[in-house]
Amino acid sequence: MIRGLGYAGFGSSALEDWRQFGTNLLGFQAVERGNSLLAFRMDDRKQRVVIDRAMGDGARFFGWEVEDAAALDALAARLETAGVAVTAEPRTLADARRVRALISFSDPAGNRLEAFHGAEVDDTPFAPGRSISGFRTGPLGLGHVVLTVETIEPIMAFYTDVLGFGLSDYIEKPFRAYFFHVNPRHHSLALIETGKAGMHHLMVELCSLDDVGQSYDVALSEPDRIGVTLGRHTNDFMTSFYARTPSSFMVECGWGGREVDPANWQPVEMHHGPSLWGHERVWLPEKDRAVARDMRMNAAREGLRAPVQVMEGNYQLMSGTCAWWDGIKQ
Ligand code: FE
Repeated sequence: MIRGLGYAGFGSSALEDWRQFGTNLLGFQAVERGNSLLAFRMDDRKQRVVIDRAMGDGARFFGWEVEDAAALDALAARLETAGVAVTAEPRTLADARRVRALISFSDPAGNRLEAFHGAEVDDTPFAPGRSISGFRTGPLGLGHVVLTVETIEPIMAFYTDVLGFGLSDYIEKPFRAYFFHVNPRHHSLALIETGKAGMHHLMVELCSLDDVGQSYDVALSEPDRIGVTLGRHTNDFMTSFYARTPSSFMVECGWGGREVDPANWQPVEMHHGPSLWGHERVWLPEKDRAVARDMRMNAAREGLRAPVQVMEGNYQLMSGTCAWWDGIKQ
């Protein structure tokens, strides 16, 4: 079945703004492909994010990765059995996506989804647009995508029952949001109920906390760039901020996301809201922002916290000899 979010594409005529944003703020590597297409690399792959002038503003597609040709056939059959129209895309589109083969279909909200196998790897090393340590991708996919939907239930049913996504957890307050995994990344997809179908944000995860802090400085230096201030999420433990893109959605720059064990994970409702601290949401209506602030004040009163999640190579243990901390650790 689906192993990860492999790539994403967005229609926009603001290619130059996107190039600046992608390279200078996020640290993507820009790959020019004529005057209608801008591709970004995040790792060894030839492309991860594509901005296409020909698609029109607001158009988007998401590339979900499967293991091989047999898995792609099995997914196509499964979709057809569920009554979903599937298109076997031609060689020309597979070449444009830098993959061996793909199919396309739509989710019930009308988002164009593609499933593919055989992503092409570039023969030159990744060269970030700004000096960053790199993006955490590999078997976890490129990050996560968050969509806004009219009503969560019918869209959720498609992703879980037909595509096999697993529910990680959900919140009902200060807004409804459901989080889904397809690999150990806590969520590769989330749905936020806003009453309107749209694109909310794309999350990319940096290998170093300092990468995120430096991106935050870049974002702060630009007017109206910040969509959500620095904060830490309650469920995936991501320390992140959200930047407004040249399109009408945001990119979340994150560090330190937790992993889940898909085989044994039990979904839970979270009652402390989406963030342990921070994440003032410019996009939320004022009354919901007030509820979110209340929930954070409550988290502060209760001292809600979680261990940092680190990868080999980006931490050093401190000696931490402290009677007080030794007591708290228990
Ligand atoms: Fe997110």
